[in-house]
Amino acid sequence: MSVSSCLVVGNWKMHGTLSEAAALVGGLAERLATGGSTVVRHAEIVLCPPHPLLVPVGQRIQETPFRLGGQDCSSAEPGPRTGEVAAAMLRDAGCGYVLLGHSERRTHQHESNAAVRAKVVAAQAAGLTAIVCVGESTAVRQDGQAERHVTDQVLASLPAAVDAAATVVAYEPVWSIGTGDTPGVPDIEAMHATLRDALVRIHGPGPWRVVYGGSVRARNAGAIAAGGGVDGLLVGGASLQPGEFWGICEAVSLTRTVPP
Ligand code: PEP
Repeated sequence: MSVSSCLVVGNWKMHGTLSEAAALVGGLAERLATGGSTVVRHAEIVLCPPHPLLVPVGQRIQETPFRLGGQDCSSAEPGPRTGEVAAAMLRDAGCGYVLLGHSERRTHQHESNAAVRAKVVAAQAAGLTAIVCVGESTAVRQDGQAERHVTDQVLASLPAAVDAAATVVAYEPVWSIGTGDTPGVPDIEAMHATLRDALVRIHGPGPWRVVYGGSVRARNAGAIAAGGGVDGLLVGGASLQPGEFWGICEAVSLTRTVPP
């Protein structure tokens, strides 16, 4: 049993209307109010709704231990960048976190490691913790290159002067996202150890937080979160269902013990 608390990040992706967001947060708040205090003592829960929902969701979670995160930010300062959102704006909207380099953005927006690196600089300068996503495709895994690929990706996605305390690395195998397929816990542990070794070698002792993402559900969350070197979970689809997401938070909380 680990003594540190476990990060659980809900990535709503491009889902949610105002009323759906209210129902989702309401469902989580109800569960929190009915015996959920032990869960939030062991799990640090972050909700990442789409940008238009940040402020209303932030208002609804104001009196709760839930935290707010964005799903992306610009690498640029506020200015003439139509359609983009500056890191400082996320901070101003109440965010403490931002997801960066999610595989869906690397695929659909063709985000390079260099682009992600520039966003990490902007996010940390604005006071946000950057959750930097990396992960291998099926082809890379079948080629036996998963560890090399993911290590190269994380090192190229972080700036030389990265702030370890404001960084979370999310290992998300692309083939696992939204498929129901997950690596075995020993594979996750091995990849997290590889990532941590690389981070320590290049950027110093940290402490580094490495979380796992890809088809996490209430039924597998406890086993994954109990894995060595797993500091938390990044949850996509299941974060849209309050019962399932809360089940994940409960399951991970049972893998943690907090000093009295
Ligand atoms: C994600 O999109 O970050 C993710 C982990 O998705 P899912 O949980 O749906 O696999």
